[in-house]
Amino acid sequence: MKEAVFYQKLEGDKVRCGLCHHKCVISPGKRGICQARENRDGILYSLVYGKLIACHVDPIEKKPLFHFYPGSTAYSIATMGCNFHCLHCQNWEISQVKNKIVGKEAVPEDIIQNAITSRCQSIAYTYTEPTIFFEFAYETAKVAHKKGLKNLFITNGYISGEALKEISPYLDAANIDLKSMNNQFYRKVCGAKLQPILDNIKLHYELGIWIEVTTLIIPGYNDDSEELKRTAEFIRNIDTTIPWHVTGFYPTYKLNDIHPTPIETLRKAVAIGTKAGLEYVYQGNLNEGENTYCPQCGKLLIERSGFGIAVDNLKNGFCPYCGKKIVGKGMR
Ligand code: SF4
Repeated sequence: MKEAVFYQKLEGDKVRCGLCHHKCVISPGKRGICQARENRDGILYSLVYGKLIACHVDPIEKKPLFHFYPGSTAYSIATMGCNFHCLHCQNWEISQVKNKIVGKEAVPEDIIQNAITSRCQSIAYTYTEPTIFFEFAYETAKVAHKKGLKNLFITNGYISGEALKEISPYLDAANIDLKSMNNQFYRKVCGAKLQPILDNIKLHYELGIWIEVTTLIIPGYNDDSEELKRTAEFIRNIDTTIPWHVTGFYPTYKLNDIHPTPIETLRKAVAIGTKAGLEYVYQGNLNEGENTYCPQCGKLLIERSGFGIAVDNLKNGFCPYCGKKIVGKGMR
């Protein structure tokens, strides 16, 4: 347990947490929406500091990040809790906390040592929402940078601007979910609001953090062509080179009565993204549409198989056929 950062003391020993856009006002003895922060006698504590519920070595393509050190591995960690309550959460057993917070005790140096020993090039703060274990992520990220490791957030994008700016010197890349362009979807399905996420995607970009955006397409919820077009146009208006991943849904948690996303829907989304002017649109979860093609000459540059790289034709980050620079970081 560690005293939280980004909170304000209010009257009557209440506190206001400023770590994410929920800005929870928390009475003594109560927790915030994420269940990971608790007010004890007017002091806000992180209940999850150093309590790891998951540690795995993952291919970076699994995050998904396709234009950031392709073919590398990320030491991936999580604690319990989440500031969203998505009806379709794939990790709901660890994100949707009822009472007890459990996890294996660790200090930042353990994570860094494990990442180095496992030959990872980066540390990914992932599986649940990294914002809610900000204190641990921040301290780990700072030391990791000194050791030459990169730091990645796989995030719902609800972190406050203040917190994002604080960690941004150490945050190298983020995959941000843009689940819908409809505020009602965010309210009903996730218990959140849309606008802070749109603002945050721009803020990540302005802070120089490498970003890729993911939209999980749920049949009947966010698969409308007009909405997908607005998503693609929003990304395009920031930068046409931001990769957009459109991924397939599988029935899970509280949305287990919805059928999986048909492949035609993902293909439709890719066509919409490409027509809107995005240069890199990828399909996910259905084993097609994951290769990188040169946006200028159309030739195959990176062929992906599963979460691995089968063929890499890039030459120092450039297309070998027409010489176009392929955006990203660590593109070989
Ligand atoms: S991090 Fe948790 S406690 Fe803080 S505002 Fe967000 S949901 Fe509330």
